[in-house]
Amino acid sequence: MDSILLAAALSLAESAAPRSAGSTTARLCEAVLDHLEQRIAEPLEPPADWQRPAELGCRCQYCRDLSRFLASPSESTWQLKAVQDVRSHVEQRIQLDQCDLDRTTNKLGRPYTLICTKNQASSERRVRQREQDLADRERLMPLNRV
Ligand SMILES: [Zn+2]
Repeated sequence: MDSILLAAALSLAESAAPRSAGSTTARLCEAVLDHLEQRIAEPLEPPADWQRPAELGCRCQYCRDLSRFLASPSESTWQLKAVQDVRSHVEQRIQLDQCDLDRTTNKLGRPYTLICTKNQASSERRVRQREQDLADRERLMPLNRV
């Protein structure tokens, strides 16, 4: 959901102006609440195995290897021994696509080796999002009961 709509709904919900059923304000708040309810209904379990979201915004050879690794339920680490340009490219992609990966660079031998280890970052983001959604729903609810 667009955070702008959420902000608008919250600010309308908390303004003193009386709301009537069917008003634009009420409909906006309902739409935002619907969206929050849908997200709140999604399961929150941490990942059951090593499989992680593997959609990447680049299709080069290295990113395809990375994507294959992310999709694997059994592999937890991946090593990329490659020149700096390649390692930087892959690291940038990991950041842009918010991959569930911790990264270190092993500087033994040349070229260096980028070591990626899977983590639960996106699961933890969902937990924080859930807390925020519940708080936002709380703020929108009183208005919606009118
Ligand atoms: Zn790439």
